[in-house]
Amino acid sequence: MARGTRIRAITPHVLMAELPEPFAYSQAWYRKRGAMLVEITTEDGIIGWGEAFGPAELTAPIVSWLAPLLLGEDALAREALWQALYNRLRDHGQRGLVIEAISALDIALWDIAGQALGLPVHRLMGGPLRTEIEAYATGFYRRDREDHLAYLTEEAEQRLSEGFRSLKLKTGWGLAEDIALTRDFRAAIGPKPGLMVDCNHAYDAVSAIAYGRAVADCGIAWFEEPVPPEDIAGYQEVRRGQPIPVAGGEASFTRWGFAELIQHRAVDILQPDVAACGGISELKKIADMASAHGMRVNPHVWGTGVALAASLHLLAVLPDNPPGLFPRPPLLELDRSPHPVRDALTAPSVLSAEGRVAVPEGPGLGITVDRDALRHFAA
Ligand code: CA
Repeated sequence: MARGTRIRAITPHVLMAELPEPFAYSQAWYRKRGAMLVEITTEDGIIGWGEAFGPAELTAPIVSWLAPLLLGEDALAREALWQALYNRLRDHGQRGLVIEAISALDIALWDIAGQALGLPVHRLMGGPLRTEIEAYATGFYRRDREDHLAYLTEEAEQRLSEGFRSLKLKTGWGLAEDIALTRDFRAAIGPKPGLMVDCNHAYDAVSAIAYGRAVADCGIAWFEEPVPPEDIAGYQEVRRGQPIPVAGGEASFTRWGFAELIQHRAVDILQPDVAACGGISELKKIADMASAHGMRVNPHVWGTGVALAASLHLLAVLPDNPPGLFPRPPLLELDRSPHPVRDALTAPSVLSAEGRVAVPEGPGLGITVDRDALRHFAA
């Protein structure tokens, strides 16, 4: 064992903030927004940070339950520890909250390994293939206002002026309204910006196909989560029945969950979330499986600077698909919707004039977590 890398303490942090203006996606309204961070400390005082996607109050107790399995173990033995955690709860938690908790622990172990060796995480994984990543803007949620197109257009103008070249519109407000909104939004932003749509599985296959056909001339790069994540056959029907590439995977988990999406060619673009799918270790395995099957990967990202940094290190090493002189690199999902915890916790992500974000170069994840923010937002 490397000197001093024995795990001494594991602390989950549940953070919560009220939102100045509530916003909705197709499944629920957000009135507050949270985060669950995991802090792992080694015997010689290295501190690693991880983050779990999903309800913070529910993932934190799972981290506490798993913690005794890790205390005293070598933090560098990431692969062995991942298997120990997963195998311990395999019969009870193959997806969802348990895997989200394991994801946070795995990310923190990578942060520790990088700091112990003095290298950024992407170099531990054999990168970088690329040192900056083109970002697309996530946001465009529904607000409790009358004129939706007005605030969405204003938000689009702001993002495009910041340097973003692609925007992702939230849909899922009813088929007729979605078709009209998509057409109006495209007309408002003009033909040049990239546009994706995401209905957060608000449709069944019949409606998703009708939608995709109705907006086929709007230049849409991908149609995200058209149907519920359990409906693999529905995903296949949507792929066959309308022309827009289909994306999904933020509600899928581990190599086994993604193997199902891959084997059934359920999507064109896989979207594993590092803070949900099983962590950095598992997302790399999923990306390699996708590469072997010729499928695109654009990770889902929706958290604080911890999940964002973990995603950037992965994006630095994801294989080009297909490889060549002019590859199509994976995109970074950069959430610009309100998140007071995110904004206070780490230094903000910097977007270049070309809409790119640099991969962190410091040891580990290459981030610093603000202790005042941890105290301020503690739930
Ligand atoms: Ca999504």
